[in-house]
Amino acid sequence: MHAEIISIGDEITSGQTLDTNSQWLSQRLAELGIRTLYHTTVGDELAPGVEVFRRAIDRADLVIATGGLGPTADDLTRDALAQATSRPLQRDTDALEHVRSIFTRLGRAMPPQNEIQAMFPAGSRVIPNPHGTAPGIDLGVTPEGQPPCRLFCLPGVPAEMVEMWHATVAPTIVDFLGPNRRVIRFRRIHCFGAGESQIESMLPNMIRRGRQPTVGITASKATITLRISAEGATEAECLAAIEPTEATIRQCLGSLVFGAEDDQLQDAVIRLLRTQGKTLATADSATAGLLSQWLASAEHSAGVYWGGLVLTKPTVAPDALAVECRLRFDADYGLAVGNAQGCNSPLQTDAGGKGGSLPSPSGRGAAAEDDTVITVALSSAAGVQTKDVAFHLHPELRHIYLAKQAINFARLALEEEAAASD
Ligand code: AMP
Ligand code: MG
Repeated sequence: MHAEIISIGDEITSGQTLDTNSQWLSQRLAELGIRTLYHTTVGDELAPGVEVFRRAIDRADLVIATGGLGPTADDLTRDALAQATSRPLQRDTDALEHVRSIFTRLGRAMPPQNEIQAMFPAGSRVIPNPHGTAPGIDLGVTPEGQPPCRLFCLPGVPAEMVEMWHATVAPTIVDFLGPNRRVIRFRRIHCFGAGESQIESMLPNMIRRGRQPTVGITASKATITLRISAEGATEAECLAAIEPTEATIRQCLGSLVFGAEDDQLQDAVIRLLRTQGKTLATADSATAGLLSQWLASAEHSAGVYWGGLVLTKPTVAPDALAVECRLRFDADYGLAVGNAQGCNSPLQTDAGGKGGSLPSPSGRGAAAEDDTVITVALSSAAGVQTKDVAFHLHPELRHIYLAKQAINFARLALEEEAAASD
C-alpha cells in the first residue's frame, strides 16, 4: 500500500509556512506500515487542486490531504475533491450543527459563509473536529478500471490535524488494513571520517533499490547516516531483519561508525570517557566554541567533561594548547583544535609527560602555509598526538566540520585505548 500526502495552501507554496504536516503524517503512516511515495504541495487554486487530487487518486492507494477546509473564498479543498471525483457537494446536518455549536459556545452568531464547512462530496463520511469548525472528509473512490483509493482531508492547523488523526483517521486505517497490516521500522547508523561514496563502496552493494531491508545513505554536515528500513508483519520481524544488516554495516565500516539513532560524535566521546573513568578538557580556537558547547550540552557530560577554553587569537600552537588545557583543568585528556600558522613556539612545559618534547608547529609545512589546514591535538599523560585536517567543504560548514574532526580524533584515541585495555 502506497500513500500520497497533499498539502494545500498559498502560505506553503510561497515559503511562508514550512510544511510540517507532511513530515508528521509520513512518520505516522510509516508506523502503520504504509510507505509514502509522494508529497505534493499545491496553492489555493481550484484547477490545480482538482488536478492534484486526480493524480493522487490515480497513483496512490491512500491519500491524506491537509489544509483548505476553512470557510473563506481561498479554502477550496472540498470543491477540488468534489470535482476530481465528479461528486456533488451535499450538506451534512450533523456537521452543520457542530459548526453552529462552536459559534454558540463563543457567544457569536455563525457567519453564513461557515455553512460551507458542512458541505461534503456525496458518499463522504465526516471526520469530527472537536476543537475547530472545519470537519474533515473521509471518502473512498474506485475509478473505472482502477484499484480503490481512500482519501482523508484534514484541516491545516497542526493541532487539529493531529487530534483528528489519532481520534479517527489512524483507527480507520488500521481497521481497513485488517490482518494485512504491515509494520515499518527504521534504524539509523552514523559514521564519520569518510565521504558518502567511499562509505557506499565499502558496503557490499547494500544501497541498491529492491533490497530487503532497504539501506539509504544521507550526508549531513560531514556525518554520514545509513538508514535501514524493514517492513514486516510485526515489529519483532522488522527488528530481526534489521539486525544482520546492521551487523554487516558495522563490520564493513569498523571505527567509521560512531553511534546510532540520535547519537552525535560528542555522545560517543562522553560514553567512552565514562566507561574508562577518564576526564576531558578542550581548547578551541578554530571552531567558534563548538567543542565546548557540544561537549558541555551532551547528555551525561557532567563529571567527565570538565570545561573548555575558547580562544579567538591563540598565541600557541594546538599541540601546546592541548597540553595547557589538560593541565589547567586537571583532566586526563586535553583536546585542542586550531591553526598552527602564526603561533609562537609551543609552551615550554614538561606537561607532555613521557617522551617530553612537543612537536614544533613549524615542522608541519602544510599547516604553516595553508590556512585551510587546521591541526587537532590530543594530550594525555602519555604524550600529544596531532593530526592535520584539510578543509574543502562549503565555508558555512567550517566550524562544524573542524569541531567534528576534533571530537572524532578524541573518539578514535579513546576507542584504541579501550581496545588496548580489553
Ligand atoms: P488551513 O486549514 O488551510 O486554513 O490552514 C490553517 C493554518 O494551518 C495555516 O495558516 C498554517 O499556519 C497551518 N498549516 C496549514 N498547512 C500546514 C502544513 N502543511 N504544515 C504546517 N502548518 C500548516
Ligand atoms: Mg488555507
